Amino acid sequence: MDKYLQRIGEIFKAIDSIYDAALNHYRFSCKGCADNCCVTKFDHHTLIEELFLAEGLRELDAAGKKAAVSHAEEVVKVHNTSPEDVRVMCPLNENGLCTVYEHRPMICRIHGVPYEMHKRDMSIEYGIGCHRFMSEMLSEDLKYFPLNRTMFYVEMARLEKEVREKLNYTGEYSKTTAEMVLSILKENQTEN
Ligand code: SF4
Repeated sequence: MDKYLQRIGEIFKAIDSIYDAALNHYRFSCKGCADNCCVTKFDHHTLIEELFLAEGLRELDAAGKKAAVSHAEEVVKVHNTSPEDVRVMCPLNENGLCTVYEHRPMICRIHGVPYEMHKRDMSIEYGIGCHRFMSEMLSEDLKYFPLNRTMFYVEMARLEKEVREKLNYTGEYSKTTAEMVLSILKENQTEN
């Protein structure tokens, strides 16, 4: 599995690098943001992100793992009993910091700034930035930074396909971060 984990690490490094360039271009920062995107309910759609996140969770000490499981259980309960747009803090955020920062999923890396996607028919679809970006940054003078997500999605899809074939994994994959945490840590508890 190492070679797949290495590849997702490389894709994420490339995403982080272009995202940083976009933030610099816009002189926009997520630091101290009151509209923290870690409270957004994101669904993740690749098994490889769960395997990568598992690497990060493995590095937590016993108390950290226990806290992550307990927070994740609370978050799943809230998600299951609330409207889809409910805002509740991610179980992996402790005191405003991500406890698995190097291993966080893809959406945690690319949410926030405007982007574009190039489609097969050569058309380009544009996506807007987060709520705070749009309210603070949008002006006639704003110069667009072309953050093209296409290659990252293509590379992730290619990698995901290979991983699923390797593991004989079939079917849909869609989990929130809280659900991924429980899949990873509770399964490990059962094994131990
Ligand atoms: S995994 Fe980390 S960056 Fe992503 S939502 Fe959770 S705390 Fe925030």
